Amino acid sequence: MSLEQKQKVLAALADGSERAFQLQSSLTALRGLGPANFGDGEQAKADYLESWLRAFGIDDIEHVDAPDSRVPSGKRPNIIVRIPGKSEKTLWILGHMDVVPAGDENLWNTDPWTVTRDENDPDLIYGRGVEDNQQAIVCGCMVAAALKEQGVTPDLSLGLIFVSDEETGNAYGIQHLFAERPDFVKEGDLVMVPDSGSEDGRFIEVAEKGILWLQVTVQGRQCHASKPDDGRNALVAAAAMILGVGDVEKHFDARNDIFSPNRSTFTPTKHEANVPNVNTMPGREVFCIDCRVLPCYTLDEVLTAFRALGAKIAGEYGVSVDVDIVMSEPAAAPTPEDSAVVVSLKKAVKEVLGVECWCGGVGGSTVAVSFRERGISAAVWAHIFENCHTPNEAARLSFAVGDAQVYASMLFTD
Ligand SMILES: [Zn+2]
Repeated sequence: MSLEQKQKVLAALADGSERAFQLQSSLTALRGLGPANFGDGEQAKADYLESWLRAFGIDDIEHVDAPDSRVPSGKRPNIIVRIPGKSEKTLWILGHMDVVPAGDENLWNTDPWTVTRDENDPDLIYGRGVEDNQQAIVCGCMVAAALKEQGVTPDLSLGLIFVSDEETGNAYGIQHLFAERPDFVKEGDLVMVPDSGSEDGRFIEVAEKGILWLQVTVQGRQCHASKPDDGRNALVAAAAMILGVGDVEKHFDARNDIFSPNRSTFTPTKHEANVPNVNTMPGREVFCIDCRVLPCYTLDEVLTAFRALGAKIAGEYGVSVDVDIVMSEPAAAPTPEDSAVVVSLKKAVKEVLGVECWCGGVGGSTVAVSFRERGISAAVWAHIFENCHTPNEAARLSFAVGDAQVYASMLFTD
C-alpha cells in the first residue's frame, strides 16, 4: 500500500520539470538580497512561497520572523511549513531564501535576474540563486505539492524550513529560529540541508571544519621613505607576519582524510590599502587570515598561536601587532554515517539516481552546523554543479526533479 503511494508521488514528480522552471523563474526575479548586500530582504520571496503553498491547501505555516529595521518590511522572514504524515517523525528540508549579489553583470551571458534556458540544452538554466539555494526550496515545494495533488499521506511528516540571512551571518535566519523555537526539530527527525553537493549526486557532507577569520593590524610609524630610520615600516613587519602563517600551519599539522583538503588551512586573504604614494613608508597595515580548522583543534588554540606570532613580530620589528577575531564558528561534531538521515538518504539516492553515495567533510560552512551543535544529525546533500556565487550560476531542471524524488522517497519507510 505504502509502496504504491510512494510510486504515485515519484511518478508525479517525474513530470515536474516545468514546475521547477516556473518556481525558479519567480524566485530569481524576486531576488532576496539581504541589507548587508544592499538589498531589501527576503520578504517578497517568503510571501510568494507562502501563497504558492496555500494554493495547494497547505496551511500549517508558522512565521518566526526576525525584526530588522534595515529592510522595508521591518523583518527578515523565517517560515516553518508542516505537511503531516502518518508519523510525527519529520523529514525536514531546509533552504535559504537569500542570495548573493550578481557581481559584475558583464561576466554574465544572460540577465542574472531572469532565469534563462540554455539555447542548446533546455534542461540547463542560468540565473542568480538557481543553485544556491533555490533548488532546495523548489524541491521542498514540489514534494509538498505532489503529496497534496496525489492525495497521499506519507509515512513520515514533511517539514519545510525557509530561512533568511544565510549569506550574511545567519543571525536573522537559523540562529533566530533556534533562539525563538529551540525545540522545533524533535529527536528522531531527519534533517536535510541541500546547500552543497556534487555533480554526480554522490557526495554527502557530514562534517565541516571550524572557521576562524582574523584581522591583523600592524602599527609602526610612518615617515618619508628617504629617511626610513625615522620610522617603523609596518609593511615589512606585516610581510614577516604573513610568511609566519606557514609556520602556524606546520604546528597544526593533523590530517583527517574525511576532509578535502585533509588538513587545517590558514590563508592570508584581504589586505587594506596603505599609503597612496611611493615615497611614504607605511606606518599601518591591516590584513586578514582565513583559517579552516580540523575539529581536533579548538579555535582558541589557533588564536593563541597567531597572537604569539604577532608578539614575536612586534618584538623583532619594533611595531605593535593586534590580532582580532572577525568571525568565529567552531566545528560541530560530525553527523555519524550510520545516523538515520544518512542511511535513509543513501537508500533513496540509490533508488532514484542509481548511484552509491560517499560521506565526507568540507572547509565551508552551512546551516547544518546549527543542527549538529545541538546534537541533531543533519546531512548536506544536493545534486548540483557546485557553482554557487559565480557569474552564470547554473542548475539542471532534472537535478531538481531527481532531488525532489529523493526527498519524496525518504518520506516512505519501506
Ligand atoms: Zn547557500
